[in-house]
Amino acid sequence: MTEHYQYQSRQIEKNPAKEFRFGEGRISCYLSFTLSVLSLLAVLAYLYPAYLTTAALREVYDAEQLQQVLKYAMYFSLFFAVLTFVLNKGKYKAYGLGAITLTLIGFALGGYSIPIGNVEPKELSLGIDWLILAFLGSVAIFMTMEKLFPKYRDQVITRPEWGIDMFYFCFNHLAISAILIFANYHASHFDRAVSPSVQSAVQAMPVWLQVILIVLAADFVLYWEHRAYHEVKTLWPIHAVHHSVEHLDWLAGSRGHFVQVFSERAMVMIPLYLLGADESALNIYVTFAALQAILIHCNVDIPFGPLKYIFVTPQFHHWHHSSEKPAIDTNYSAHTVLFDRLFGTYHLPGNYWPAEYGTTVRLPRHILGQTWYPIYRWKQRLGKKVS
Ligand SMILES: [Zn+2]
Ligand SMILES: [Zn+2]
Repeated sequence: MTEHYQYQSRQIEKNPAKEFRFGEGRISCYLSFTLSVLSLLAVLAYLYPAYLTTAALREVYDAEQLQQVLKYAMYFSLFFAVLTFVLNKGKYKAYGLGAITLTLIGFALGGYSIPIGNVEPKELSLGIDWLILAFLGSVAIFMTMEKLFPKYRDQVITRPEWGIDMFYFCFNHLAISAILIFANYHASHFDRAVSPSVQSAVQAMPVWLQVILIVLAADFVLYWEHRAYHEVKTLWPIHAVHHSVEHLDWLAGSRGHFVQVFSERAMVMIPLYLLGADESALNIYVTFAALQAILIHCNVDIPFGPLKYIFVTPQFHHWHHSSEKPAIDTNYSAHTVLFDRLFGTYHLPGNYWPAEYGTTVRLPRHILGQTWYPIYRWKQRLGKKVS
């Protein structure tokens, strides 16, 4: 069946109105507005660190150094807002004015000179620090890669529904402490399965071997969790939200029903908890997993060479998002292609890429509709059974 399938190439229409070109005021408008929002959020995080930052992340960064970055962000926001006024004749000026207002509110609240003291850690907080750092990191790494090695050069940054995915991106990062509390609580149910002899055997291994073991164990759990989301009819409407995105890029992978976001972390926490690997191995895994999860959705075409037969790559995961027949319910793995190979769900047709992305049945194109979608589908199925 797959051999006879006619693969098509994807058509992306040029959208000159949405392209970023120098001298039009559009770039400065987006820069000033983004910087003003991020700066105001950062000022609030410095004001109420116990409620608006994450304890685990605070250990990693230097809050005083980041305050220097905040200083530049605030001044650059004002600079780009003024540039927007100079360059643009009309529609972006409102954003420029908005950016100036937000930055001035930031200055009024204390700006970049709020004293930093000891923070009384709260268990449940909003991860504003995690949101800002992840956003800046993603733009620096992945948006840059998409510009340097694009798969679809004509796909613009503000492609259709990017705002929806930005909402999901913000939610997933702000909710980080709630997600971790839930995942740890879930894993603690497996207390009885903890084996001290297994854990000490794992800890006796070199770190690189521990990392390989964690990657494979996590991949196995994620493979079956993901496959269940596709193949168990009741679960699919939850996961369909992730698949409703029709343009893949660094932001697209953020789209996901909150039930899936929470359950995925909770499931992957089980093998991590049982293996009891060293913290250094866990840190390497978490960093690798976080970067790979974004990379595989990116609009990039990098020659991975033989690595594409070992690791999940953008081409492999793009096929998972395709609505074309040979690709439906394939490529479930998150890290390596091993389990798709083993369990017969592997689909990587040479150098072909999908022509179509999304679900065969279209989902609502707004957040509330997507959040409600599983309930809507369950009610529909129950109705059909009753009648
Ligand atoms: Zn899926
Ligand atoms: Zn995906």
